[in-house]
Amino acid sequence: MTTVKGLQQRIVKALEKGQDPAPLLKQLAELRTQNAAEAESETTEVESSCRVCQHRERGAIDKALQEGRSLRDIETEFNVSRSTLSRHKRNCLAENKNIYHIA
Ligand SMILES: [Zn+2]
Repeated sequence: MTTVKGLQQRIVKALEKGQDPAPLLKQLAELRTQNAAEAESETTEVESSCRVCQHRERGAIDKALQEGRSLRDIETEFNVSRSTLSRHKRNCLAENKNIYHIA
């Protein structure tokens, strides 16, 4: 498997030998694009398991849920679907109840 690091080393070697590194540089750019796309898809996967838990405003969402605000409200405010919110409330929030009692 070609890695970014491996390619960088090959580019350095090519330069040392006075070879043209252009094809390697092109390969490196392609590899980086590929890696970025992979990282993106990983993030999406994690989010799909529970988008609320991954949400950067999770604390505010949890608070809103605990205050008994309507899911429709929260959906609009944080752009998280109602089904995701109710699943989070049922699966995640209940388990972590103690944390909020202490906090
Ligand atoms: Zn959750």
